[in-house]
Amino acid sequence: MDADVLIIGSGMGGATLAAALAPSGRRILILERGGHLRDSPEARDPDAIFRRGHFKPPETWHDAQGRPFNPGNYAFVGGNTKFYGAVLMRYRAEDFRPLRHMGGTTPGWPIGYDDLEPWYGAAEQLYRVRGDAAGDPTEPPHSAPYPFPPVPDEPDIAALRRAFAAQGLNPVALPLGIDIDRWLARAPTTWDAFPDSTGAKSDAESCGLAQALRHPNVTLLTGTRATRLVASGRRVTGVEVEGPDGPRTLSAPLVCLCAGAVMSAALLLASADDDHPAGLANRSDQVGRNFMNHNLTAMIALNPLRRNRTVYEKTIQFNDWYLTGGPGGEPLGNVQMLGRVTGPILAGESGLPLWLAHLIAERSVHVLAMSEDLPDPDSRVMWRRGGVVLDWRKTNVAAHDLLVRRLGRAMRRAGWPVVLSRAFPKSKPSHQCGTLRMGDDPAASVVDRNLRAHDIDNLYVADASVLPTSAAVNPSLTVAALALRLGRHLSAAA
Ligand SMILES: Cc1cc2nc3c(=O)[nH]c(=O)nc-3n(C[C@H](O)[C@H](O)[C@H](O)COP(=O)(O)OP(=O)(O)OC[C@H]3O[C@@H](n4cnc5c(N)ncnc54)[C@H](O)[C@@H]3O)c2cc1C
Repeated sequence: MDADVLIIGSGMGGATLAAALAPSGRRILILERGGHLRDSPEARDPDAIFRRGHFKPPETWHDAQGRPFNPGNYAFVGGNTKFYGAVLMRYRAEDFRPLRHMGGTTPGWPIGYDDLEPWYGAAEQLYRVRGDAAGDPTEPPHSAPYPFPPVPDEPDIAALRRAFAAQGLNPVALPLGIDIDRWLARAPTTWDAFPDSTGAKSDAESCGLAQALRHPNVTLLTGTRATRLVASGRRVTGVEVEGPDGPRTLSAPLVCLCAGAVMSAALLLASADDDHPAGLANRSDQVGRNFMNHNLTAMIALNPLRRNRTVYEKTIQFNDWYLTGGPGGEPLGNVQMLGRVTGPILAGESGLPLWLAHLIAERSVHVLAMSEDLPDPDSRVMWRRGGVVLDWRKTNVAAHDLLVRRLGRAMRRAGWPVVLSRAFPKSKPSHQCGTLRMGDDPAASVVDRNLRAHDIDNLYVADASVLPTSAAVNPSLTVAALALRLGRHLSAAA
C-alpha cells in the first residue's frame, strides 16, 4: 500500500480534508494534477489573465452539441481557490430544507443546517474569514463570531452601501478570506479571478494544505493526474495515475475523491469496467447528473458624470430578495459586489476596444446577481471518447431575470443610471456542483450523508460534487465545512 488514505485533488475539498485528517497520524498521499502557482509578473497583469488566458490549462471539453470549449477551470495546487473571489459564505438555514422556487422545488439535504454549523465555524477559523454576522436577516445562527473583522469598504463602496440602505435594503459585509494589506502590498488590484501568489488570499493551499503539510505523515504529489479508479466488487483497489515518472498504479485502503464537480464525476465514469459498466459508484445512474452552477449575471452600473476610485470593490452584499423576492414569495438570490472591473478586464471579457472599456470601467460600479440553479437529472457531465462532455441545462431562469431587473432598478436609484448586464457564459462553470450528490436514498444519490459512495465501501467524496443543491451562495465554505466533517468522521472510525 502506498498510503493509508489517497486524496485525489488539492483544492478546497481535498486540502481541507487533508488538514482535518492529518492529526490522526495516518499516512496521507494527496495527488494533484497541477503544479505550484509561483509568483510572476502575470499574477497581477489583468491583460495576461483576462485577455491572454495565461493561467488556463490547455483543456478542452465539449458541450452537448459537440462544440469544444476551454472551461476556464484552473489546475494548480489549491485548485480553483487560487483564483477565487474568497467569498466564504454560509448557506442559509432554509437552503437545507425543500424550498419552493419559481423554477421548481429543491429536494432538501439529508442533513440540516444545525449539523453543519460547527463545521462552518471551524472552516471560518481555518480560512481566516473576515466578516460580521449582524445585520442580515437571512444570516443563519453562528455559535462563534468570525475570527476577524470585515474587510473595510472603500469610500465609493461605503457610499453605495448608504444608497442601498436608503432604499430600505440591508447591505452587509461580504465574508471574505483575504488579508487586504498583504494583498495590496504586492500590487493595487482586486483579488477576484487574480491568482494568489503571496498567501494573502485564504485559499486551499495557503490555509488547508499548509496546515496539513505541517504533519510529517502528509505528502503531496504534484503533476500527478488520476486517470482511472480500479475496483473489485465494492472496493477501490487502485488509482491509476500519470505523473512525472510516467503511468503507475497507487493503492490505499481509503480513497477520497476531491477533483472538483466535473472531474470527479468524469473520473468515476471513465473508470467503467465489466463489473461496473456505467462507471464506478453508479448503480443509481446518478453519477454526473444534477450538474448545477448558479445563474450569474455581471452588471455594470454606469454614470458618465461619476468616477469609481476603488481598487478592490468587493466588500458588500445584500440578501433582501434571497428567500422571498419572487411574485409568490419565492427566492430570487444574492447580490454581491464583483471584484473591481478595470479597463483591461472589461476589454478581455467583452471584446470592447481598450479605450472604450477603460472609459466605462472608470465610470461604473460592478455587481453580481446570483440565483439558485436547481438540480435537473438531464443537466449532466458525461465521458465520451476520452473527454468531458458538459450538458448544462440552466434552471430557474425566470427568478434570475427578475433578480437582475430588481437589481438594475436599485442601481439606478443609487445614482448609477445606465445598467449593462451580461450573463456569465456557460463555458465558465466556476461554481460547478452537484454531480455526485449526497442523499439517504441509494437510488437517487451517489454518496450517503457521511459522503461515502453508496456502492463502494472505501470510496469517499469531498468536493463540490456532493452538494444536493446550489443555493445562491458561493460554494467554497460549504465544501470546506463538509470536508472537515468528513475528516472527523474518518478519524473517529480509525
Ligand atoms: C474565478 C473564480 C472565482 C470564484 N470565486 C469564488 C468565491 O468567491 N467564493 C466561493 O465560495 N467560490 C468561488 N469560486 C468557486 C470555488 O473555487 C470552487 O467552488 C471550489 O474551489 C470547489 O472546490 P473543489 O474541491 O470542489 O474543487 P477545486 O478547488 O477546483 O479542486 C479540485 C482539484 O482537483 C485537481 N484535479 C482535478 N482532476 C484531477 C485528477 N484527475 N487528478 C488529480 N488532481 C485532479 C484540480 O487541479 C484541483 O486542484 C470561484 C471560482 C473561480 C474559477
